[in-house]
Amino acid sequence: MPRALITGVTGQDGAYLSKLLLNKGYEVFGLLRRSSSGDLVDERLRWLGIAGQVQMMDGNLIDLSSLIRILHEVKPDEVYNLAAQSFVKTSWNQPLLTGQVTALGANNLLEAVRLVAPGTRFYQASSSEMYGLIQEPIQSEKTPFYPRSPYAVAKLYAHWMTVNYRESFGMHASSGILFNHESPLRGIEFVTRKVTDGAARIKLGLATELSMGNMDAKRDWGHAQDYVEAMWLMVQQDKPDDYVVATGRTVTVRDMARIAFEHVGLDYEEFVKVDPAFLRPAEVDVLLGDASKAKAKLGWTPRTTLEEMIKEMVEADLFRHRARMR
Ligand code: NDP
Ligand code: GDP
Repeated sequence: MPRALITGVTGQDGAYLSKLLLNKGYEVFGLLRRSSSGDLVDERLRWLGIAGQVQMMDGNLIDLSSLIRILHEVKPDEVYNLAAQSFVKTSWNQPLLTGQVTALGANNLLEAVRLVAPGTRFYQASSSEMYGLIQEPIQSEKTPFYPRSPYAVAKLYAHWMTVNYRESFGMHASSGILFNHESPLRGIEFVTRKVTDGAARIKLGLATELSMGNMDAKRDWGHAQDYVEAMWLMVQQDKPDDYVVATGRTVTVRDMARIAFEHVGLDYEEFVKVDPAFLRPAEVDVLLGDASKAKAKLGWTPRTTLEEMIKEMVEADLFRHRARMR
């Protein structure tokens, strides 16, 4: 039975990746940072019906000693580094914490793997945010990076460290440059989930409006369930490498909101208010990925359309709110 260690196991991707690996017969271990809200930590795993099947290991990405201890105890075949301070807007308010977790945390884990078991296969969750102020209209593995937030700068450090450990020490370290991916398990602060939750609340009479930021930003949105498959495929390759994972379609926040509100029979323009509080000090105006390398080498293609995904998310939020109202 192969063994995998996932950091960020309580997050959106951690939950979907855990399910994928459990279905493939893996023994799955998750890095769990201590929280005072212990009863809420496995909410996403519970949603997918796999709570209790992931073995939680007490540690933190910024505590190198905990990572070394866990690698000794678990002896994983594969390590997936999904943990991060992952919200771009927060990264301006907590730039140093973002650097410690998202940048140096990844380095801690690479270092722990190198010291304890350098043959372990390693996956780094890199991000399309690294392209930031885009240098090419369609971004591929060859497109130069131009990060636009403390989050993106931190991810870029982690990305290059992953490349560097691969080239310096021959480690099987791969990096997935994933474009935005969403699901009913997406954090509520991210724009898709904020909109699907808002549309559900307004539909049910629990709210009357939704305050948002830049409606003209464009993103290449895919489904997290499809994207974790690409992570696994990268780790299975003979040679480690970097891959863009994207749908190849970009849509404005405005059009995404239209799709969500239309699903509940409402016109978003009647309810969405632009509030400057949600604008960012520097914006990533548009992202559009070219995943042809992942398609050619991994045989990966996205399966879910934006419309299907937004519909699934709105339905999940309606379900959640109705359950709370009962
Ligand atoms: P989430 O925000 O849902 O999950 C982040 C995870 O990191 C949570 O499990 C969180 O734990 C954990 N974490 C945060 N800080 C620490 C720490 N100090 N020690 C240990 N664990 C910690 O992110 P996603 O699942 O959406 O994304 C997964 C990864 O992919 C992230 O690295 C993200 O930056 C990256 N990414 C995501 C994209 C997307 O569109 N979703 C696009 C490209 C990259 P807790 O539950 O305790 O907060
Ligand atoms: P990001 O691409 O990782 O920053 O993912 P987000 O989902 O947080 O944001 C995607 C885009 O939506 C960005 O360009 C934001 O500026 C834009 N946006 C517009 N209104 C909002 C909002 O109310 N919340 C968030 N999170 N983003 C918003």
